[in-house]
Amino acid sequence: MSEQKGLKNRGYAHADVDDRRRAVEEFTGTSLESISKYCFSSETASKNIENMIGAVQIPLGFAGPLQISGDYADGRFIVPMATTEGALVASVARGMSVINDGGGAKTRVFWDNMTRAPVFRVRDIGHAREVMDWIEGNFDSLAASAASTTSHGRLVSVEPYPTGRNLFLRFLYDTGDAMGMNMATIATETACKVIEERTGAVLVSVSGNMCSDKKAAAINMIKGRGKTVVAEALIPAEIVLRRLGADTASIVETGYRKNMVGSAMAVTIGANAHAANMVAAVYIATGQDPAQVVGGSMTVTTIENVDGDLYIAVRMPSVEVGTVGGGTRLPCQSEALRMIGCLGDGGARKFSEIVAATVLAGELSTIAAQTAGHLGKAHSELGR
Ligand code: NAP
Repeated sequence: MSEQKGLKNRGYAHADVDDRRRAVEEFTGTSLESISKYCFSSETASKNIENMIGAVQIPLGFAGPLQISGDYADGRFIVPMATTEGALVASVARGMSVINDGGGAKTRVFWDNMTRAPVFRVRDIGHAREVMDWIEGNFDSLAASAASTTSHGRLVSVEPYPTGRNLFLRFLYDTGDAMGMNMATIATETACKVIEERTGAVLVSVSGNMCSDKKAAAINMIKGRGKTVVAEALIPAEIVLRRLGADTASIVETGYRKNMVGSAMAVTIGANAHAANMVAAVYIATGQDPAQVVGGSMTVTTIENVDGDLYIAVRMPSVEVGTVGGGTRLPCQSEALRMIGCLGDGGARKFSEIVAATVLAGELSTIAAQTAGHLGKAHSELGR
């Protein structure tokens, strides 16, 4: 607090980026020359950052092309990945190449809603019941109040969760091609005012944590948040052996003992090798909210032996992505989304399928590398 005040007292509080950075350099005694080099204006980033002093750069690579046959993504895609983890891009690229040899990845979006769950204080459980009945009988007026704040967002349903003198209402929205968190929050605030006026319930917080945003949560794992996407591939036995250096049965055993038993032992939410790695790299490259990698981390990876061939699938219950708004407006991130034909209107579900297929490739490669005993070698050769 006193440090911030110090900056203000020197008259830097409203200075532009360069002045602000100079003030920080002076205050910290640190040269920020590298941070001063970037390729967009502070106006462009004005909705993305406060107190801007520059930008940090993260190396960008690509994996692919990957053949995907989905409901929305159909074709060969070169996937942008921003990371500082050596060996990650190489491993995903290898997984993609093997999946291509097997005929490509298939993807489906099974569910698509963004959620916001306010918490209300009610008098008692009888009052909670009254409020729930009112919502059920007046859904259309709530949907209309939500719609007054957005032309793309649409309230789909409101799920009630009463507990003691708390009433949680999980609002579900179709948010078009936006990830939708701002959209859903603004629309929910407006709808909550109507609920307060008409029922006497008192809004305590527009986010009551049953949303649940940016926290690993069973509710998102089971019911979904954002897009629930599944990707699968079938790799013929001969290709498995030749390309991955292990046979199908051994890779299936690793999947069982590591992903299933190990994840149960550790009580992880989700069961995967490193889904968050692929999610983080693609999210950062394309201007997604990186904190929502936690949703991607809840992936379940299943591997089976199908007549000697290797079947692998990832179920991603919570792919919270957009191709408009948020960080997608920044120029590097826009270009990365253009690489996969996903920038703007009509891109979000396609993008979510590409994310899932990329996670599939990373899971295949890493689980196979661990089966063949190659993981440490690859990391020491490429990452150290
Ligand atoms: P946004 O940039 O706030 O809103 C999306 C905008 O795009 C809206 O103005 C929407 O217009 C417009 N739009 C244009 N074409 C669209 C299309 N085809 N589909 C959907 N919308 C379209 O983005 P957001 O996705 O709602 O929120 C993303 C941001 O929220 C990120 O920066 C993220 O970090 C941040 N975030 C916020 C919270 C929070 O609690 N508020 C939590 C987590 C993350 P209309 O709405 O007028 O139709």
